[in-house]
Amino acid sequence: MTETLARADLLALADGDEERVFAAEVIAFLEEHHPPRTPADASWGTGPEALSLFHETTDEREREESRLAQGWQRTKWDAGFGWIAGPEAYGGRGLRPSFDRLYRAIEGHFAVPDMSPLRIGLGTISPVLVAHGTPYLIEEYAVRLHRGDLVGCQLFSEPEAGSDLAGARTKAVRTAEGWVLNGQKVWTSNGSFADVGLAIVRTDPAVPKHKGLTMFLVPMDTPGVEVRRIRQLTGGSSFAETFLSDVRLDDAQRLGEPGAGWRITNQALAGERRSVGDRSHELNARALGLLKVLAERVRRSDDPLIRDRWARLYVALYSARAQQVRMQATPEDRLTGAERAIDKVVVARTYRDLGALAAELLGPAFAADTGEWGTFAWTKWSLGALGFRIAGGTEEIIKTMLAERVLGLPREPK
Ligand SMILES: Cc1cc2nc3c(=O)[nH]c(=O)nc-3n(C[C@H](O)[C@H](O)[C@H](O)COP(=O)(O)OP(=O)(O)OC[C@H]3O[C@@H](n4cnc5c(N)ncnc54)[C@H](O)[C@@H]3O)c2cc1C
Repeated sequence: MTETLARADLLALADGDEERVFAAEVIAFLEEHHPPRTPADASWGTGPEALSLFHETTDEREREESRLAQGWQRTKWDAGFGWIAGPEAYGGRGLRPSFDRLYRAIEGHFAVPDMSPLRIGLGTISPVLVAHGTPYLIEEYAVRLHRGDLVGCQLFSEPEAGSDLAGARTKAVRTAEGWVLNGQKVWTSNGSFADVGLAIVRTDPAVPKHKGLTMFLVPMDTPGVEVRRIRQLTGGSSFAETFLSDVRLDDAQRLGEPGAGWRITNQALAGERRSVGDRSHELNARALGLLKVLAERVRRSDDPLIRDRWARLYVALYSARAQQVRMQATPEDRLTGAERAIDKVVVARTYRDLGALAAELLGPAFAADTGEWGTFAWTKWSLGALGFRIAGGTEEIIKTMLAERVLGLPREPK
């Protein structure tokens, strides 16, 4: 980042003098630690061809990636960038959320480690801890997540409760010493290496289902917690089944009042949806680039129908990005929360269409792993796109949510 123009571009992301001073501080910090990110090479046969939407690595490699992300988070914390909008009383910087967004926008131009392993902890768990946690929970978990000491996971879905999360059956029973948890969670991303899980469990089976749920912070090394990795269709195993058998927790591990779990869960899920666009921007650019070189390779890049489809994909992904930026800039009190999911629906559908166009261009090479560069990678993309449409709420569920809360259409009969 030596060219003056690039630095000026980054400074231009700031709004007003206060943000500009902050941006200059951020640029100096990042320049000290990482080189600028160079756009992925988009010529046929060179550079990485992997197009997986979910992790396809070994357990060891995943742990290594987590260590790298945690190391970078620690460096950020020490320099005052680990919790930019966090409360000062807990070591945060106490700045407005726009400063946090500005930091992330600038950081995106530097070759920092992949922060995916920390996303659930920082984006989903920490905000609800700050909103509902006791000083003990904030200190013990939110602070340590931001300091890079811990990795978090989300213990929400169950074999019989995914979209209908309020139907969770894992139960917690109160005892003289605290609580005893029993049940099973599934699709736990980060499950095999997370330190702490945010769990939604049933504490009162006698009241309507949404009212009988409570949240807990479950240290993943508590006796009775067993994590079994799930092998994915695409070869990797980035999530797990989590069994809870007589897991004893102190009452201090409870987040919020008994029965308040559903409201907190919805806030946590809104946090999860908020971070989808961040994650996908760079990958989107690479996928579009690879699709373009694929069209050239198979001599279809002059076909007006192919060009039209590619352009539509480009527009869809960039408008999803713009939508996300717009939502991030809108004050929370002007949103219902559901708007944050619009870009996830657009991105997920576009991923499916990107895969479909690649399949058409490739013909049989799409399905056969011939070892040829840039071909079979698209199969993994298309299979991963299915998962992307489900994660963080399926398309059907999100569309119902948007219809009811944003468009004000009549509610779905229950
Ligand atoms: C990549 C990935 C990562 C994940 N990570 C985690 C994690 O870390 N922690 C965690 O707890 N969970 C995680 N999940 C699980 C995810 O939250 C659930 O898969 C999701 O909520 C859907 O639940 P389900 O799989 O049980 O599907 P179901 O709820 O059984 O849905 C099956 C189908 O029926 C449709 N459907 C269901 N109800 C309705 C309705 N009322 N109206 C219309 N259609 C409906 C759905 O849209 C879907 O098409 C992850 C999932 C994926 C794919």
